[in-house]
Amino acid sequence: MPQHVVVIGGGAIGSSVACFLARDFGVRVTVVERDPSYRFASSALSASSIRQQFSTAINIRISQASLAFYRRIGEELAIGDERPDIGLVEPGYLFLASAAGVEILRANHEVQRTCGADAVLLAPAELQRRFPWLAVEGVALASLGLSTATSGEGWFDGYSVLQAFRRKAIALGVNYVAAAIERMTTAGGRVVRAQTSDGSALEADAFVLAAGAWSAPLARTLGFDLPVRARKRDVFVFHSPARLPGCPLVIDPSGLWFRPEGQGFICGAPPRGEDLDDAPLEAIDHGLFDDWIWPHLAARVPAFEALRRTHAWAGYYEYNTFDQNGLVGRVPGTDNAFVACGFSGHGIQQAPAVGRGIAELVATGEYRTLDLSPLSPARIASGAPLVEANVI
Ligand SMILES: Cc1cc2nc3c(=O)[nH]c(=O)nc-3n(C[C@H](O)[C@H](O)[C@H](O)COP(=O)(O)OP(=O)(O)OC[C@H]3O[C@@H](n4cnc5c(N)ncnc54)[C@H](O)[C@@H]3O)c2cc1C
Repeated sequence: MPQHVVVIGGGAIGSSVACFLARDFGVRVTVVERDPSYRFASSALSASSIRQQFSTAINIRISQASLAFYRRIGEELAIGDERPDIGLVEPGYLFLASAAGVEILRANHEVQRTCGADAVLLAPAELQRRFPWLAVEGVALASLGLSTATSGEGWFDGYSVLQAFRRKAIALGVNYVAAAIERMTTAGGRVVRAQTSDGSALEADAFVLAAGAWSAPLARTLGFDLPVRARKRDVFVFHSPARLPGCPLVIDPSGLWFRPEGQGFICGAPPRGEDLDDAPLEAIDHGLFDDWIWPHLAARVPAFEALRRTHAWAGYYEYNTFDQNGLVGRVPGTDNAFVACGFSGHGIQQAPAVGRGIAELVATGEYRTLDLSPLSPARIASGAPLVEANVI
């Protein structure tokens, strides 16, 4: 068992790792976070939704474990009488498929059923009955996630998750250091220290790289080419007099998604044009909303003809260009360096299970509660991508 672990990056993933290491294994942990305001952190800029409707068993199992944790986060991360509240609601995800997408929707449904995820397939007539506000033109089949004792889908407040893990970690004795790590140094296959940009060095028995969209340059100092890049995603907020009872998170066959948020709605779509690495977050593509998103919204929900866009924000997906799934496990070629990043738009829902898994691996050398080895970065060298059909 390592005596001291350094975690690089104190977002939801890094703070979850730190929290489980300290809480479940009593390990001394230092988290190095360069920006304690979390202004650019994906965890603070996330749409923070959780689903079971993936096409790969490992993603479904991770979300099931994380949902169970989020449902009882008040007890899990309580500090004395203070119980965190992340505002979890579970109205489900509704995937709409055109005729071309029916086969894949059915195949995904089969995987989800095998893994115990509660989703139902709905023909257009049933869809219309359940959601009279929805236009079903062009929809051949839909899949709706249901909330049950073991299954559920919905959304929560991502910044509250980050803070709940961080506060609990600090209460357990984890030391948060405000500094930027510049490089890691190895000797004989082991990482011996992490150096900060102000010239100081942190020594530890193990290191966890959880720097989100900014992880690749640090992995490179270990000789590992991590295929993770920052990819900007815009989220638009709008208000509408439309009332959509029971509105889930809807994914249109076009790639448009929307869901309720507070008194209004949020929505997004795949970026148009070049999906540049490190595009500045303030460069929001407002034209995307006016030219493409709004017409598609109104086509799917006619009552959205009347809406008012109020604001927008953007954050970076830590996008895994190899196969758009998390890279979780030991850094190839090292004994004591671990990574957890590359979640490509489904990371905050995976934070509890991934944090717990990495803590187990670092502390005991194996996964104990949920085997996360399908997400091992070793799949890159072996050229075996873990293909997830449902990436939003
Ligand atoms: C617009 C948007 C919508 C999303 N929607 C969803 C969703 O609906 N559901 C879902 O599950 N996920 C979603 N995601 C993805 C999810 O938010 C991320 O996968 C998750 O937050 C990643 O957490 P993280 O801790 O790895 O990264 P971050 O929160 O980015 O944390 C990384 C931290 O590392 C720090 N750091 C970086 N480099 C260094 C360094 N050299 N030294 C020290 N510190 C460093 C950064 O300051 C940062 O705080 C969305 C993301 C975006 C941007």
